[in-house]
Amino acid sequence: MSTDDLAARLLHLHSEGLAKGAPVAPQVEMASMFHLPGDPAGVPGYGRMDNRTWSALEEALAALEDAPCLSFPSGMGAISAALFSCLKAGDRILVPTDGYYTTRVLSDRFLKALGVEMVLRETARFAEGGFEGFALVFLETPSNPGLDLCDIRSVADAVHAAGGLLVVDNTTMTPYGQRPLDLGADIVVASDTKAPNGHSDLLMGHVATRNADLLAAMRDWRKLAGGIPGPFEAWLTLRGLATLELRLSRMVASAEVIAGRLAEHPGVTDLRYPGLSNHPARAQMATPGFLMSFTLKDEATAERFINDCPLIQPATSFGGVHTSAERRARWGDAVAPGFVRLSVGIEPVETLWAAMAKVLP
Ligand SMILES: *Cc1c(COP(=O)(O)O)cnc(C)c1O
Repeated sequence: MSTDDLAARLLHLHSEGLAKGAPVAPQVEMASMFHLPGDPAGVPGYGRMDNRTWSALEEALAALEDAPCLSFPSGMGAISAALFSCLKAGDRILVPTDGYYTTRVLSDRFLKALGVEMVLRETARFAEGGFEGFALVFLETPSNPGLDLCDIRSVADAVHAAGGLLVVDNTTMTPYGQRPLDLGADIVVASDTKAPNGHSDLLMGHVATRNADLLAAMRDWRKLAGGIPGPFEAWLTLRGLATLELRLSRMVASAEVIAGRLAEHPGVTDLRYPGLSNHPARAQMATPGFLMSFTLKDEATAERFINDCPLIQPATSFGGVHTSAERRARWGDAVAPGFVRLSVGIEPVETLWAAMAKVLP
C-alpha cells in the first residue's frame, strides 16, 4: 500500500464497523476488572491481559506495520520483550556499538547474568565478520546518533542462513520511512515515544512480527512480566498516530532544506543526513528522515547553538513537533564535544532556519 493510501486508511480504521450512536473517537478504557460471570472465554478478562484501548492502538500499529503488533509502556519495554522472550542461556547476540545505548546496557547488565553473551560491532561494518553462531542479531539503521546506514535485506539473508533471528529497531524511521519486516527482519521494535506520539508527553513502544510463535512469546512476556501500557497513554499514542504522516512530511521536507544549508555553512563539519548519503542502503528508506547530526567547533559553540536558539528545544530524545537538539558527548557517546544531534520539528522552515542562522558561528 502506498504511504498516501496507508495514511488515509489509518484515519478511518476505527470507524469500520462502529455501531450507530457509538463515539467516532476511540475511548479510554480504564478497567482492571471486567464483568465476567460464567465462561470467561472470548471476552476481556483482566486488565493485565486485555484492554480495548490497547487493542485500538495495536490495530492502528498493525495497519502501519502490515503485521500484528503488541504495545508496551516504552520502547525499552518493547525491546526487553523481544530479547527476553527469544533468548536462553548459552545464546550469543550481536548488538551495534553505535545504536541506542540502553539496549547494550540492558544486555550487559541483565542478559549476561542469565548466560547470554553480547558481541558488539559497528553499524558501518555490520556485515563484516558474518553472523555465524548468533541466536539473535539486533540492528538499528540509521544508527543513533551517528546515522550510519546498513542494508537490512542482506543482513536478514545472512542472519537467516546462519540460523539466527534479526530484530530491527526502526525508531528513527517509523513504518512510513522504512519497512524492515518487508526486508526480511523477524521482529521490528520501536519507541513510539518519539515521532509516532510526537508530542513529547509520554513514553510508549511496540513490537511487530509476522511470526506467530514470536508474537505469542512476546504477548506471554507482557502478560507474565507485567510491563503493560497505561490505557490513557495508549489513547494519546493513537491520537498522535492520526497525524504522524502529516507531521513527518513537514519534518522531512524541512530537514532536507536545513541539511542542505548546514552542509554549506562554513562553521559546520561532518554533517550527516541520510538524504545526503550515497550509501546503497539509502534505497531501503522511503524518506531520509528528520534527524541529522553535525559537528561545531567545540562544546561552547555547540551549547550556544542549542541553548540560545528560541526555536530549538534543548532536550534528549527526538521526533517531537518542536525542533530539538543535544550534544551527545554529554551522555558519553563516542563523538566530538561539538557533535550535535538535531531533530527537526514542524515549525515553518524559513522561520526555523532564520532562527538557527542567528546562532550558528
Ligand atoms: C528512544 C529510543 C529507544 C528507547 O525508547 P524509550 O521509549 O525511551 O524506552 C530505543 N531505541 C531507539 C533508537 C530510541 O531512539
